[in-house]
Amino acid sequence: MTIEYSSTVWLAPFPPTLLKDKILCLWDRGDGLRCHDVLKGDALLLHLSSVHGCQGQDDTKLTCWWDGCAQRMKKRAIVAHIQDVHLGVTYPCRRCGITYGGKSSFELHLLGCPVLKK
Ligand SMILES: [Zn+2]
Ligand SMILES: [Zn+2]
Ligand SMILES: [Zn+2]
Repeated sequence: MTIEYSSTVWLAPFPPTLLKDKILCLWDRGDGLRCHDVLKGDALLLHLSSVHGCQGQDDTKLTCWWDGCAQRMKKRAIVAHIQDVHLGVTYPCRRCGITYGGKSSFELHLLGCPVLKK
């Protein structure tokens, strides 16, 4: 069985399914309740900025209140953080089949995937 993928599929920043999938927002509103809004994966940053006040420059330090997380991080890192840590997004390598739990380790793997030369 031969499966061919174009290079654009390899290097897509997020698994295509994630952007289509609906996710449940578990942002802690500060009153002990979670947001519980249902939104599309690709609308996460917009939702965080318009509903939860996650605004500022890419380098602005924000606190992740997803499920009471309370981690501080830069704004540009927060969407990847939520996807990796809170949504448990996995990144399966379509070349060798190994699944990675984080975007950064997956991207690293793409550079050194053992079946790259196939
Ligand atoms: Zn929300
Ligand atoms: Zn968090
Ligand atoms: Zn691989």
